[in-house]
Amino acid sequence: MDNQNEMKIYEELANHTKTEIVIVNKDGTVLTSSKLYKKGTNFDSELLSEIQKKNKIHKTYVDAETKEYYFLSGRSIELNEKKQGGAFVFASLDSIHDSIHKVKNYLILSIVVALLLAAGFTYFVSRKLSKPLIDMEIVTRKIAKGDLNINIKKLSNDEIGSLAQAINDLAIELKDYRTNRSEFLANISHELRTPISYLSGYASVLRKKLYDSDQEKEDYLSIIENEASRLTLLINDLFELSKMEERKIELYKEWVDIEELIEGVMGKAKLRADIGNVTIKYEPQKNMKMILSDGMRLEQILINLIENAIRYTDYGEILIKSRVIKDKIIISIKDTGIGIPSKDLPFIFERFFRVEKSRSREMGGTGLGLAIVKELVNVLGGAIEVKSEVGIGTEFIICLPIET
Ligand code: ADP
Repeated sequence: MDNQNEMKIYEELANHTKTEIVIVNKDGTVLTSSKLYKKGTNFDSELLSEIQKKNKIHKTYVDAETKEYYFLSGRSIELNEKKQGGAFVFASLDSIHDSIHKVKNYLILSIVVALLLAAGFTYFVSRKLSKPLIDMEIVTRKIAKGDLNINIKKLSNDEIGSLAQAINDLAIELKDYRTNRSEFLANISHELRTPISYLSGYASVLRKKLYDSDQEKEDYLSIIENEASRLTLLINDLFELSKMEERKIELYKEWVDIEELIEGVMGKAKLRADIGNVTIKYEPQKNMKMILSDGMRLEQILINLIENAIRYTDYGEILIKSRVIKDKIIISIKDTGIGIPSKDLPFIFERFFRVEKSRSREMGGTGLGLAIVKELVNVLGGAIEVKSEVGIGTEFIICLPIET
């Protein structure tokens, strides 16, 4: 029991485990040296008798001098069933408290750091998200004020990127619209100015009696009459076109006998065709069915196309064909007229575009006929196509959806 080396081992062990190990012999004399008990001193008699009774104890121990708290674990030492003393391990609760305190501090610190990181991350993400939105707001406000020279750069590949692209597209659209509108207004004023200058010029000639014969007077009066009706026609066409472009026209669907409709239009046009050397022919499909469509609009499309064919054909033939294929009706109007140069073909449906301005005017054209046709075909949900060769002729083909 009083083996010196063995006691040293306990002391070493105590040092390494940061505990106090106290070995006591059966008389209560301390055999190891520790902070709590010096070697050779007497051990707490109460604890010794308690261990001898219970064999082992686990409890909290308060050092009477230092008031330090320990967790005490003790065991009696027996040899040949005889109590020889006891071994006591005192683990300072202060160091445990210290550790708990440290852990608590670390925990608080890590919570604070985590909160700071989360706040920083949230700020970064929200800045990253809101910055492009703020940019877009600035740009849309510029657009609202009429500044259309904008372009949002750095487009990301997400919803924000596609929103920015939509704003860029909107600006381009508005720019196009603005250019179109000013071109259109310039065109209108030009188109109106010509007949008005004729009207005022010839009216003043008549008022000042600057004519030599009654025949000359009659000629001037008929010019005034013609220009006045051209003006009415132009205004009516413009009105129709703007209604169509704003999709303000309503469709009135009815059962239409397409053969009857085309023959009706031909009857009206023939009068004009007969003045020249042009014949109009119609080749309907056999057993042409009735179709459900807006007859008035269809008639207007055909009048414009047939009148154009007559206007731009000096001699030859205008051939009209119609056929129903599945749920579509295809009508073609082919003439043997002057044709349209291929460089002009992409523009002929534009308002006021004319290949030959003088011929169009001379023949009473407003320059809006094909623009109206194109809009009407659109309104009816169809498509129009043109094929032409200069000196050979022109063919317009319209394809419209129908219910039969
Ligand atoms: P316009 O009132 O001048 O006829 P449109 O819009 O009807 O106006 O036609 C635009 C232009 O397309 C015409 O000025 C003409 O140059 C050309 N065009 C239209 N139809 C024909 C055709 N059948 N043959 C040759 N040129 C045509």
